[in-house]
Amino acid sequence: MKHLILGNGPAGVVAAETLRHAAPGDEIVLVGAEDAPPYSRMAIPYLLEENIDESGTYLRKSPGHFDRLRIRELRGRAVSLDEAGRRVLFDDGHFEDYDRLLIATGSHPVRPPIPGVDLPEVHTCWTLEDARAIARFAQPGARVLQLGAGFIGCIIMEALEARGVELTVVEMGDRMVPRMMTPQAGGMIRKWVENKGIRVVTNAGVRRIDRRPSNDAPLDVTLSTGEAVVADLVIVAAGVAPNVAFLESTGVHVAKGVLVDDRLETSVPGIFAAGDVAEAPDLFTGEHLVAAIQPNAVDQSRVAALNMAGGDTRLKGVLAINVLATLGLISSSFGQWWGEEASRGGAGVEHVDEAAFRYLSLQFRDDVMIGATSIGLTEHVGVLRGLIQGRVRLGEWKDRLLDSPLQFVDAYIARSQQPAALVR
Ligand SMILES: Cc1cc2nc3c(=O)[nH]c(=O)nc-3n(C[C@H](O)[C@H](O)[C@H](O)COP(=O)(O)OP(=O)(O)OC[C@H]3O[C@@H](n4cnc5c(N)ncnc54)[C@H](O)[C@@H]3O)c2cc1C
Repeated sequence: MKHLILGNGPAGVVAAETLRHAAPGDEIVLVGAEDAPPYSRMAIPYLLEENIDESGTYLRKSPGHFDRLRIRELRGRAVSLDEAGRRVLFDDGHFEDYDRLLIATGSHPVRPPIPGVDLPEVHTCWTLEDARAIARFAQPGARVLQLGAGFIGCIIMEALEARGVELTVVEMGDRMVPRMMTPQAGGMIRKWVENKGIRVVTNAGVRRIDRRPSNDAPLDVTLSTGEAVVADLVIVAAGVAPNVAFLESTGVHVAKGVLVDDRLETSVPGIFAAGDVAEAPDLFTGEHLVAAIQPNAVDQSRVAALNMAGGDTRLKGVLAINVLATLGLISSSFGQWWGEEASRGGAGVEHVDEAAFRYLSLQFRDDVMIGATSIGLTEHVGVLRGLIQGRVRLGEWKDRLLDSPLQFVDAYIARSQQPAALVR
């Protein structure tokens, strides 16, 4: 049996290793499209902060790791799939055949169609190559304009601050991290970063980027508000899209990402998908969801690999989890953090302590917690996750939590020990 794995990020690497254990005699080919050993994008901020060098980002650090596991590594970009012939065409013109295929090609950052977005001082922050370019331009005192204050935008702020740049962040939404945080939480994160000297402009985009005639201030960035900002570097962190182009006109069903079932198998038997490229069923709604964080990529790839090896393992459902460190302020959101309509059994509560930068929002459907948002509650975020992921029936604890939300640890201890409290 030959397993072909497209993508050598965390999903691809963990799938290859899992397959080696589950199917010791099978052939495994792991393909990466970038000019680097398998690495973790999560480590890029530490690289920019110069806490690690490039080798510190590598997913497996011992030399010969993949050879020892008899995992054949290939460099190439898949450009099309021939499902009937069970083979993949790569950008160098060669075909690789397979018995089982894993699509673990991740996603790529979106470059909005802004005039000037292709200038050499404009970069996304996604690959090691991007990190090298950002490090070149983001010197102490450099004026940096960052487009986007979402998950990635917030994560890289700390590294940019550590590099001593003068940072302006422009966000289209009405608050920071609008797709992961409640308005109150987004507002508190904004206040935190502004206190650290970062300028934040919300409800605004970039209209155009022009090169200045003089060399000392290379770019003029015009915002949608009409304001002009001078910048030495523009970082685009305006969202990502799954790498699915090579699946066009195939039987593999794609919505935003590749649609998979709870075995991580696609609409074509024998073809699986995992990680940032996959849309797996949500824990609560069963609707498909891209949950683009590394722990999900790893969980999904393990399940996919076990099934590729002939097993029958199922993923219970994806829980959207976002844990974010913005200049040292830890925030998190889980599940359906925005809540549920009252007519469908929804109820919610907020605890706000602006002075201490502590915040909690709990959201319920009937007596089950379906979502939460927190700031500054680092020690107990695992409990929130446990309550939501375990779909614990809270009984009378729901009303107690609506009165005093900070008692969620007590609720967890009281209710999660009772098997009858778990929703099947
Ligand atoms: C700066 C930054 C910070 C982050 N911080 C965090 C964090 O703190 N916590 C967290 O959970 N997540 C974080 N993430 C997200 C995390 O990195 C991703 O969720 C994770 O990398 C997903 O793993 P993956 O294997 O699915 O995809 P990827 O890591 O993107 O790997 C996909 C691989 O497929 C290859 N590929 C793409 N197209 C093709 C093709 N056509 N043919 C062959 N190969 C192809 C790519 O080159 C790549 O090697 C961060 C991301 C970035 C950019």
